[in-house]
Amino acid sequence: MPLQLRFVTSATRHGDLPPSDAELALVGRSNVGKSSLINALANRRQLAKVSNTPGRTQLLNLFELPGGGTVVDLPGYGYAAVPMREKAKWQRMIEGYLLGRDELRAVVVLVDAAVGPTANDLETLGWLRSHDLLVKVVATKHDKVKPSKRDARRRELAERCALPTGEVLWVSAAKRVNIDELRRRVLTWLDDPT
Ligand code: GDP
Repeated sequence: MPLQLRFVTSATRHGDLPPSDAELALVGRSNVGKSSLINALANRRQLAKVSNTPGRTQLLNLFELPGGGTVVDLPGYGYAAVPMREKAKWQRMIEGYLLGRDELRAVVVLVDAAVGPTANDLETLGWLRSHDLLVKVVATKHDKVKPSKRDARRRELAERCALPTGEVLWVSAAKRVNIDELRRRVLTWLDDPT
């Protein structure tokens, strides 16, 4: 069943977000397929915008589930064409949220199955772990990896993220692969992330 995600609000400061029972954050480099995945989870076409123009205003977007849990969509990182000053501003916003949001249970890091993890992804994973944040890795765009290469790619990607192969869920928003499994995991992670 689709996740009944309801968009509640956008904010630039975590202090402006409404309280939550439990929260998951979604992060990933821009273009990793985060918006497409949120839309697939909710089975909605435009809940999160799918865009090829990163650099637009970046905000913390909060979605609520009927049970009281929330999912926060964080701005994508690693987009080269954004001015340094703007990047520094986003970074402060994202770090402020990740370190200051008491409701945060786990951070779901999206990694492109075909090209990841990038240096940026690894830096993000390292930073999150160094701050004792619980990290879950989901590999996106599963359909872009040739079936004959998938086993090797799966092992390599997980190893580079310092995780057992089975800990990384491979999904495709485009081909609807493992979307139900990710829905189940989102609910489990909100309930008991360990
Ligand atoms: P975001 O910047 O992380 O929110 O990424 P988007 O959801 O906007 O997707 C970036 C691009 O990747 C778009 O052109 C999407 O159509 C494409 N994309 C997203 N998910 C998939 C997928 O599962 N498979 C394939 N092949 N392409 C995808």
